[in-house]
Amino acid sequence: MTKWVYGFGDGAAEGGAEMRNLLGGKGANLAEMCNLGLPVPPGYSITTELCAHYTDNGKRFPDDLKGQVEAALRGVETAVGARFGDAECPLLLSVRSGARVSMPGMMDTVLNLGLNDATVAGLAARSGDARFAQDSYRRFIQMYGDVVLGVDHYHFEDLLEAHKDDCGVTLDTELTAEDLQALIVLFKDKVATETSTPFPQDPDAQLWGAISAVFGSWQTARAVTYRRLNDIPEEWGTAVNIQAMVFGNMGEDCATGVAFTRDPSTGENSFYGEYLINAQGEDVVAGIRTPQRLTIRGKELIGASQPAMEEVMPEVFAQLEGIRGQLERHYRDMQDIEFTVQRGKLWMLQTRDGKRTTAAAIKIAVDMANAGLIDRKTAVSRIDPASLDQLLHPTLDPDAERVIFARGLPASPGAACGRVVFSADEAETLAGQGEAVILVRLETSPEDIHGMHAAKGILTARGGMTSHAAVVARGMGRPCVAGAGEIRIDYQAGEMRVRDATIRAGDIITIDGAAGEVIRGAVPTIEPMLSEDFGTLMKWADEFRRLGVRTNAETAEEVATALRFGAEGIGLSRTEHMFFDADRIVAMREMIVAEDETGRRAALDKILPMQRADFAELFRLMKGLPVTIRLLDPPLHEFLPKGEAEIAAVAAAAGVSVERVRRRALRLEETNPMLGHRGCRLAITYPEICEMQARAIFEAAVTVSEEFGAAVEPEIMVPLIATRREFDILKAIIDRVAEDVGAERGTRPRYLVGTMIELPRAALRAGDIAQSAEFFSFGTNDLTQTVYGISRDDSASFLDDYQDAGIFDCDPFVSIDEEGVGELIRIAIERGRAARPGLKMGICGEHGGDPASVNFCHRIGLDYVSCSPYRVPIARLAAAQAAIADET
Ligand code: PEP
Ligand code: MG
Repeated sequence: MTKWVYGFGDGAAEGGAEMRNLLGGKGANLAEMCNLGLPVPPGYSITTELCAHYTDNGKRFPDDLKGQVEAALRGVETAVGARFGDAECPLLLSVRSGARVSMPGMMDTVLNLGLNDATVAGLAARSGDARFAQDSYRRFIQMYGDVVLGVDHYHFEDLLEAHKDDCGVTLDTELTAEDLQALIVLFKDKVATETSTPFPQDPDAQLWGAISAVFGSWQTARAVTYRRLNDIPEEWGTAVNIQAMVFGNMGEDCATGVAFTRDPSTGENSFYGEYLINAQGEDVVAGIRTPQRLTIRGKELIGASQPAMEEVMPEVFAQLEGIRGQLERHYRDMQDIEFTVQRGKLWMLQTRDGKRTTAAAIKIAVDMANAGLIDRKTAVSRIDPASLDQLLHPTLDPDAERVIFARGLPASPGAACGRVVFSADEAETLAGQGEAVILVRLETSPEDIHGMHAAKGILTARGGMTSHAAVVARGMGRPCVAGAGEIRIDYQAGEMRVRDATIRAGDIITIDGAAGEVIRGAVPTIEPMLSEDFGTLMKWADEFRRLGVRTNAETAEEVATALRFGAEGIGLSRTEHMFFDADRIVAMREMIVAEDETGRRAALDKILPMQRADFAELFRLMKGLPVTIRLLDPPLHEFLPKGEAEIAAVAAAAGVSVERVRRRALRLEETNPMLGHRGCRLAITYPEICEMQARAIFEAAVTVSEEFGAAVEPEIMVPLIATRREFDILKAIIDRVAEDVGAERGTRPRYLVGTMIELPRAALRAGDIAQSAEFFSFGTNDLTQTVYGISRDDSASFLDDYQDAGIFDCDPFVSIDEEGVGELIRIAIERGRAARPGLKMGICGEHGGDPASVNFCHRIGLDYVSCSPYRVPIARLAAAQAAIADET
């Protein structure tokens, strides 16, 4: 017999934290909290294995499930001293989903299950509060109607609003028990008309309906979207957690709340949370009432007038504070907890590792390592390298003028600017067209996930720091201002107002998620300041990693950024990128369209001093660190003059007719420029180009060596070779120029000449090529292009189809294709090193900054990765994690 059901109660559990895969995160942690002796309402979990069984068997349950569920239910009844469906003393249940990893807001919850026309009287008698009982019943019909029976919740909202009008009240809390009883009749009628079946009165039927709904909700569109965005496999499934209800809404000595054991925005080691007196759990996250702070300090920080839990319920708060420490010591990580206080008694409803901003993650990891709670390797391994993006990007310039439109809560840090849209679909559409958008909603819900993902930032008018918008935006790394309560949003009119000021859909706003500000128009930004903790963590990472990290850079600004982020050298300087400036590109074009060597040399003479200055600047900035300079590799279509103005400028510079330049440019046009006359091929045809570049490099190197009093040793890299012969021809030119410059300047320059391996033939012939080449750098952009035979420039149009069809897990131009491209790299490494022991090898394609690809580079034994400046810290961290994973 398969065991489908695992029980837990005060002080004991059949499961535990190690059973997360089977019991889901929530179920495993409920069991673990019981094992720790914490107060947890008794209950049981139905395993994730059943989810797959349910889906695979036409939504039917196995025969042996019923008996196991009934036995577990009897256990809960005994623990609580109440009976499920009993009219005198009814046991009520909560039913919640819980996958292996938390999927915030993705799955559905039903509370107060077991209530019907008979048991509601029992609840009234037992609680001594008829109003509370009726209110629980109407909430149950509402939730069950929506989640299980598919009756949209607006039906219930509309009835509630109309009923309040009829009763002459404005607040839900003003409705009396009788008012609520009348509302329940309306609710049940609505369910009957919408579903053509009366609302189920049989508690068993209610329970099985809820269990089916939780398993069914694993397949809803929003759950599927969330899984796709977060790489969660479908087969994991969800568990169902069924627990005895505890009530936070039974009076003024009751409460419910959510908390983080440390500040999830900053990582500060202070208790951080919100609670509501006399409320049920959903009220805190739904954003309907504004929650109050747990601590006096938290209250003072935001200048709130409502009292903190620490003041209102000091004893329960002290107990909660104790549990906070106990959970952190046990889990050795920051926890996100949910609790309820029923008549002065604290109950723990959930604990899980808390989502946090990257800044907070770093601070928490460093603080916990310093406190001895975790070791440094664990600290380094805890930070998702890709998430560093959140820290490394600009924030608003504090000196820039800001026209504040509204203020809200600083829910997720970072600044974003874009056009206002009021729906998730519109956000996705406009973002797809390349527009930056800010998604503005009253409050967000799981239906908005795709729009939140597409948006640069999120603004909501309702909800607290733990609202859906805040939690999800923080996880996604999107700036978010939540609960900007002064904003009135009119979806119909497509506008939002604060008093007399109006902003319409399509207008540009800026949000500052760290300050909670909504600003009219676009505000300039500044580079981020990195914290001391960031420096500490990166230092630890550097101690563990084996891979070197260099950067792909050409300009002084890029080099400065890369150095600040810890680059250990330049792995690729694309010399053609040094000609993107308007005043330089003309000389480059002149060289390209020159009809003969004389014309070309004339253009090259103009380029030489520019290149010499460029290289000298790189050498000076890098202060002796390795600098890899790649010979020109201009795909012709990017550099040929196109419009009349460009052609005229080139003609004037070359001193020839416009007509001649136009004809020449036409003749040079290629059908497949990415596979055309580029890379080393250009210098094979026109050796004077290689000569000029070699001269510029050596003259700069000698000059800067003299300044430093130490030799600068450039690494000269030949692009796009397929054969050793191509390399040998160009190396001979480079060596000759070195001799010449040496003779002219009185010192022979020191240098290495190596090659890019970016064509399959070069990878296969690596043994041959390594006899001449002194280093290899894998150009995985071109290698991916040529291994797949997919144009780098044209893949976007069918990439989605390939991903949807499961052909690509991810874009092979982003994350390296280990099986195909990777195999060629392995072959090249093996053959290259066999021919030249100790041959230095790196990677300089875009993959050098992708964490998964960095991991691959570590495993196959490359010496370094080279990536764009902003990705240098990502590569450092990913390299450290690869080394740590290797050891264990
Ligand atoms: C490459 O092909 O991977 C490479 C680094 O060169 P480029 O992107 O300039 O073609
Ligand atoms: Mg290339």
